[in-house]
Amino acid sequence: MTEPSAAEIRKLRQQLLEAYRAGHRDLPWRRQSDPYAIWISEIMCQQTQVETVIPRYAEFLERFPDLSTLARVTESEVCEAWAGLGYYRRARNLHAAACLLVAQHGGRLPSSAAELQRLPGIGRYTAGAIASIAFGEPAPVVDGNVTRLLCRLFALGGDPTRGATKSILWSLAAALAHGESPGEVNQALMELGATVCTPRSPACRRCPVRSGCRARRAGEVARFPQAGRSPERRQLDIAFAWVRGRGGVWLERRPMDGLWAGLWELPSAAGHGCRAALGARLGVDLAGPIARIEHALSHRAVRARVFQPARAPRLRTSENRRRFREPLSAPLSALARKAILAAESAESGT
Ligand code: SF4
Repeated sequence: MTEPSAAEIRKLRQQLLEAYRAGHRDLPWRRQSDPYAIWISEIMCQQTQVETVIPRYAEFLERFPDLSTLARVTESEVCEAWAGLGYYRRARNLHAAACLLVAQHGGRLPSSAAELQRLPGIGRYTAGAIASIAFGEPAPVVDGNVTRLLCRLFALGGDPTRGATKSILWSLAAALAHGESPGEVNQALMELGATVCTPRSPACRRCPVRSGCRARRAGEVARFPQAGRSPERRQLDIAFAWVRGRGGVWLERRPMDGLWAGLWELPSAAGHGCRAALGARLGVDLAGPIARIEHALSHRAVRARVFQPARAPRLRTSENRRRFREPLSAPLSALARKAILAAESAESGT
């Protein structure tokens, strides 16, 4: 990639600002100037579709309107309000950060990206987004959408997730953020990446930065971004037990660290010999499987089976184990949800 000139960056900034000011999606957090509300929106949007976030965002802010309210409630209450958004670690980190800010920073969100990045759950992208949008700091943002857009705009080759290409990307984003209204420039990049410069069919004809797009001019849009080596997925076997008693379905809460930390699921065991291990833990023989599920994680291919005990095991209620009349209402991982749906469907014979 030939390094862009200062004039090229200036022109691009101008086009981005004009495009953003001329029109963008009317998202509720874009009507906000409260840093707390912007922080919540950035965390919610990290791994969840905007359409899913919109109604939950309003509900969350109604229930926890400010940082001190969020810090006063329990982690379980925050996770409960997070139901449906997935990846509960984000809710736990939000709560932990709120408690820390109240205890050590006078209950205020720091205004610089460097300080924000020290808080639980805030990485480089989120810190840049909050600092630029809420506080006007010229901090860069690079997420998946911005990566795709910048790789095409500058015909940037190489794996954008690592090494030199990754640092060039952040430098380009920093150059663009530097100047008037960094928050709007960053939101313009996010908006274009999400709505115009899409992965499979970028709408180059209506793209406001098409005149300077190097990939389009070279007729090589499909070449960018270049894919990195996808990590090899190791297989993980999991056995679940479907135990329905008079009071509902037994679920257990996972430990507070590791995979699916703190989420609820059917009693389970993982790894080689998981069925026998689970049967031994519950003190029963397991019949079945009544359902099989495949599930992909970023580094693991999960092969799960749901078994039914030959007789009811003697389970005791505790902080981390209880019956749920509506098991799908518990904070669950996507895999646990699939397992429950599959077992319910096997049980009803559908
Ligand atoms: Fe993306 Fe096409 Fe715009 Fe280039 S011209 S930034 S490829 S939408």
